[in-house]
Amino acid sequence: MSPPYRCYVVVSREQIALNYRNVRSVVGPDVEVAGVVKADAYGHGAVEVSRVLVGEGAKWLAVSSVEEGAGLRRGGIQQARILVMGGFLPYESDALVEHHLTPVVHSLHQLRLLDQCGRASGKPIPYHLKIDSGMNRLGTCAGAVEILAALEENRHARLEGLMTHFASATDYTTSQTGDQLRYFHAICARLREAGVNAAYRHTSSTNAIGYGRVEGWHNMVRAGHALYGYVSPARGDAPRQLLEVKPALTWKAKLLAVKDVPEGALIGYGGTFRAPRPMRIGILGAGYADGVFHRLSNRGKVIADGKLTSILGTISMDLTTIDLSHTTALAAGDEATLLGAEGDTRLDAQQIAKVAGTISYNILCSISARVRRVYV
Ligand SMILES: *Cc1c(COP(=O)(O)O)cnc(C)c1O
Repeated sequence: MSPPYRCYVVVSREQIALNYRNVRSVVGPDVEVAGVVKADAYGHGAVEVSRVLVGEGAKWLAVSSVEEGAGLRRGGIQQARILVMGGFLPYESDALVEHHLTPVVHSLHQLRLLDQCGRASGKPIPYHLKIDSGMNRLGTCAGAVEILAALEENRHARLEGLMTHFASATDYTTSQTGDQLRYFHAICARLREAGVNAAYRHTSSTNAIGYGRVEGWHNMVRAGHALYGYVSPARGDAPRQLLEVKPALTWKAKLLAVKDVPEGALIGYGGTFRAPRPMRIGILGAGYADGVFHRLSNRGKVIADGKLTSILGTISMDLTTIDLSHTTALAAGDEATLLGAEGDTRLDAQQIAKVAGTISYNILCSISARVRRVYV
């Protein structure tokens, strides 16, 4: 029985669990796998996905903001450690302590703020220090000497992890990843010589895991996209892909109407599609407000009655028109698949992204809050 929603996603808990297990088996028992559940677990539902991961033994989850971390705690995720990768702003420090979140500190200024916070709360707050190793986004650019001095001065914060983030892990035509690792390892080595050993070192997300950049795995990795079934395609001469993960999400919408139109009929806003022959069309109850990219107008595909078929005309806020000329099996109330599989016909976020001129992450994160989530 189809759920009573015009537009919904079905998330397979089992597939999320299988993907998590696959990441664990690839990196081996000595490497902790932090499950990245930021952005509502890439549209899959952060609390539900976190429950699955914790059930599989995950000790660490990672989110972007204090707000997201607090949401997990309120949702009942109590045991796991939660790493806040985007750091914190001064007004968020109380919530950080209250919800036992572990911030990524990405500047020495932020370290001083955390120190004040630890002083006020009476116990040192653990944090992971992010090194900017060449991506020039978040992370401290300070050298080892400066970092050591800051650690000395800020004793109410406790260094628990050292991390960095790769800019180009899928790109085998550049030395950027190797350069970033060399920089990161040099800082870690200087700190170690000075007697500073962080319990965790972590630099790798999905792509550095999938393409086997083992020297970047250390004792923790941060896996997001892989949990949801994806690894990005590589550039250049990449090694064999190690991960065997599959999409966990299916996105469906109901047909609100099916009709036959004559040759020459103009379809949708602006009349951007003209029927070249008599056609059967279907009007789906999903549009750009649900996350169907407007860029897919007259370009994208969906699966209807087991076959890939075209999106016709301009995608509207709440409606998308599709070609149903290949079938008489579908009527109003039946469904089409926006992302997922019917039989052997598949349409995943990478295929959609290619047509929409974006990346698979963007497709998944754009499935809007209006779309109901169903868990199986
Ligand atoms: C989002 C993010 C990750 C996870 O990346 P995936 O490619 O989805 O595995 C890891 N680390 C940081 C800092 C991130 O922002």
